[in-house]
Amino acid sequence: MNPFSYHRPTETKDALSQIQKANAKFIGGGTNLIDLMKEYVEKPSELIDVNALNLRGVKTHADGSIDIGALVSNADCAYHADIQTHAPLLSAAILAGASPQLRNMATCGGNLLQRTRCYYFYDKATKCNKREPGSGCDAIEGFNRIHAVLGQSSSCIAVHPSDMCVALAALNAEIHVRSPRGERVISILEFHRLPESTPEQDTNLHPDELITMIRLPANPYATHFNYLKVRDRSSYAFALVSAAVAFDLEDGGTIKSARLAMGGVAHKPWRDLEAERMLTGKRPSKDLFATVAKHVFAKARGYKHNQFKVQLGERVLVRSMTEAIEKGVKR
Ligand SMILES: Cc1cc2nc3c(=O)[nH]c(=O)nc-3n(C[C@H](O)[C@H](O)[C@H](O)COP(=O)(O)OP(=O)(O)OC[C@H]3O[C@@H](n4cnc5c(N)ncnc54)[C@H](O)[C@@H]3O)c2cc1C
Ligand code: SF4
Repeated sequence: MNPFSYHRPTETKDALSQIQKANAKFIGGGTNLIDLMKEYVEKPSELIDVNALNLRGVKTHADGSIDIGALVSNADCAYHADIQTHAPLLSAAILAGASPQLRNMATCGGNLLQRTRCYYFYDKATKCNKREPGSGCDAIEGFNRIHAVLGQSSSCIAVHPSDMCVALAALNAEIHVRSPRGERVISILEFHRLPESTPEQDTNLHPDELITMIRLPANPYATHFNYLKVRDRSSYAFALVSAAVAFDLEDGGTIKSARLAMGGVAHKPWRDLEAERMLTGKRPSKDLFATVAKHVFAKARGYKHNQFKVQLGERVLVRSMTEAIEKGVKR
């Protein structure tokens, strides 16, 4: 690990001033950043610990929207009564990830910015455009079992690893950020990037912007929802493919609106708005779900070791939609 200075500001304005120093980085729970520093993938010279800032708490507004402070731990978010009642999809996705110990440490702000688990990104002996722009991508011709099948580029085929962010994408979350230039709100759908020719940029957040909170708009998806994650081990493993699904149904069972987001398949949580439109106004059925899943993966392209993800993705999506409908019926 490279030497670094450590700061623990108690005021946001001090954190925003300290982050201006060359090569400074914020640290939340440290569960990803410290690992990357140990591997010399991240080499900040200044660490700005945000844990003493006033960014905690989950607050539900009268209009049903919920604010989640950037420092709320993944565990506190997942087990919060209002999240479990009004956004159970988010709770389910968080609890599908990592381990209890990690979820206690990990913050919601840090989770948004966790970096890919591509093996080559962590291995400095290999070529990786995300770690070292312009060096190449050893994953494309290498062992690419965990890599992307949608939205990838000739520069990078890595996937975004977060479970939480897949549910946030389905729920249209807003990311609130602050910098010396003021505050802005970034839609979760615009927050993470596809790799294109600049895979070193995971997100559209500027390096000096502090995530202050995540806002969940009010939603009608607390009954018919499902987060299905398929992975190599049944716990403590990242998704090979996951699907966050939610439906709002008419009394007669017709789909009033639908949300679909997939994890493990692309460089960002993969939301397909056209697929959601295909579901709207229809009655749920096996054939409809199969048609929609085919549509979502119609442009998918696999590599030597991950071709299986295309069919797996379709099946996970169909099963997640089926379980979302059934879950509501059982209650
Ligand atoms: C063994 C292991 C298994 C895991 N399994 C899963 C899994 O199955 N599913 C899953 O989703 N995740 C998994 N994770 C990842 C885990 O969820 C993330 O490491 C965690 O969410 C990151 O949060 P953190 O607060 O520790 O971030 P940190 O490591 O502190 O920071 C991560 C990044 O966020 C930045 N940052 C932190 N807070 C802010 C802020 N407020 N504003 C701006 N920038 C900020 C940091 O500068 C850094 O770049 C796993 C991790 C490990 C180590
Ligand atoms: S897929 Fe992306 S992260 Fe992995 S080696 Fe290639 S450029 Fe690096």
